Amino acid sequence: MLQKEENMAIIVNSIITSLTEDRQEAIRKAVGILEVPEPLVQSAYIAKTSLDARRRGDIRFVHSVSVTLADGEARVAERAQAKGKKVVLRVEEPLEAAFGPGKLSHRPVIAGFGPAGMFAGLLLAKNGYAPLILERGGDMDSRVASVERFWSGGSLDPETNVQFGEGGAGTFSDGKLTTRIGDPKCAWVLREFVRFGAPEEILHRAKPHIGTDRLRSVVKRLRAEIESLGGEVRFYMPASDLILENGRLCAIRTTQGDVPADVLILAAGHSARDTFEMLLRRGLVLQPKPFSVGVRVEHLQSEIDRGLYGKYAGHPALPVGEYQLSYRTGEGRGVYTFCMCPGGVVVPAASQEGMVVTNGMSDFARDGTNANAALAVSVTPDDFGTAPLDGMRFQQELERRAFTAGGRGYGAPAQDAKSFLEGKTGLHIGRVEPTYARGVCGCEFGALFPGFVTEMLKTGLRTFGRKLPGFDAADTLLTGVETRTSSPVRIPRGMDFYAPNAAGVIPCGEGAGYAGGIMSAAVDGLRAALALMAVYGRPAPR
Ligand code: FAD
Repeated sequence: MLQKEENMAIIVNSIITSLTEDRQEAIRKAVGILEVPEPLVQSAYIAKTSLDARRRGDIRFVHSVSVTLADGEARVAERAQAKGKKVVLRVEEPLEAAFGPGKLSHRPVIAGFGPAGMFAGLLLAKNGYAPLILERGGDMDSRVASVERFWSGGSLDPETNVQFGEGGAGTFSDGKLTTRIGDPKCAWVLREFVRFGAPEEILHRAKPHIGTDRLRSVVKRLRAEIESLGGEVRFYMPASDLILENGRLCAIRTTQGDVPADVLILAAGHSARDTFEMLLRRGLVLQPKPFSVGVRVEHLQSEIDRGLYGKYAGHPALPVGEYQLSYRTGEGRGVYTFCMCPGGVVVPAASQEGMVVTNGMSDFARDGTNANAALAVSVTPDDFGTAPLDGMRFQQELERRAFTAGGRGYGAPAQDAKSFLEGKTGLHIGRVEPTYARGVCGCEFGALFPGFVTEMLKTGLRTFGRKLPGFDAADTLLTGVETRTSSPVRIPRGMDFYAPNAAGVIPCGEGAGYAGGIMSAAVDGLRAALALMAVYGRPAPR
């Protein structure tokens, strides 16, 4: 018989319960499927729950239940599988590093304290590397103050804003933690988030989210742990240049002097435009990559719930309604919704003066009146040019036009769906009140975007209105522009994770083109840290 192994569990999938059934019923059904005597069960809990609302008249929950036995998980799982049950055996692997023979002369440096930099820093700190983290923006408290000042009519701080500062771009967000990368390191990230104060339900929900309110304290606690392990985070200190000798990194120039370094994890995010320009000047390879542009679309949350849940809208067992919609033409052009923020607000998300950018954010409770999401159209180098920074310039041009159309005071251009679909200028506010803090200004998006983007946005609105009733209602509100959907560049790295022509530099996270969202950026941070450790062995304790 197989020995009892640490971290082994049986996952019983596809357990269905109705809206009115107790969640415990799912656990009872799972244990029943395994046909084991109850005393053998050491623990059983719902590992994941998703909602099946495909048939609005018959909404159900679908659970995966994790069962640990006193003994014999492998045998029990095999027996259930032989009977055609949807059962898998899960063995969790600890996140273990292999340490290479290289010796570091200086502590490793990380540029950027977003999810990628945070998790790279955390793993390095736990392994005794005492990383030095440079962050161009402010610490959480001064960042929140700066952002709130801007949102309530003050000037934009180009160094500390919705894109820059402690926690990175997702700090003012819904804190959605969904990803399609399927990397087992995701579980490690979720558990760490919980350890730092995120709600425990993120471990079990199919679509976990933290909410901007909780995320802020989670980030602060994570930083405190890095510091307690010997790491250091220096705020208001951008990496402004790289000093390379014979193609090898030897120091990082900052606003407060040069920092000697033999290795840098570059996790500066997708909005560090001056950093991209600096990297290009220093001879790193940057390639233009596809991304998306469009608008934020706003509805009443109650309307979305009705469209999704039909007669069950408002049922206390149901979560606030979320959607994700997409459509692709025969030629391959896509229009889709993403970064949906149930019960949230549209936020002024610019990081450069004279430009307007939108994004979305919700509190954990998701209890605001409106729902919002990006409605975005895919664009490629064929649309904007093939030079390394052509995509970035395309974003900037749209953001400048939005600044002008929004009244040149950080108001955002906006239109109701009816006027937009009919190609008329103007904004008629109906049931959906704009939530964009700096105010909105009626415009004609058709005059702001290239024609193909406008046409695809119209196609998206109409197509999604057929899938989700109310999506294209006359008073659906469009606010723009949404340009920071993902990085406009990719910074290639070799199999070993290092930039081929800048020895010692590890491009990492969303800005380098290896992530798209909080979870995948965090996981890429872990990968970067593992790649660093694979070359440079653990330093002697200081
Ligand atoms: P970033 O988070 O962008 O972090 C990069 C950091 O580097 C920044 O703090 C920046 O200040 C710093 N930096 C830049 N240049 C330098 C330099 N030269 N030197 C030192 N530091 C530098 N994703 C989700 O998965 N779920 C969501 O709900 C979600 N909502 C979002 C809402 C908003 C308003 C925004 C803006 C983004 C949202 N995203 C969301 C996207 C998500 O935030 C990003 O995908 C993620 O933060 C990328 O992580 P990163 O660490 O690669 O980069």
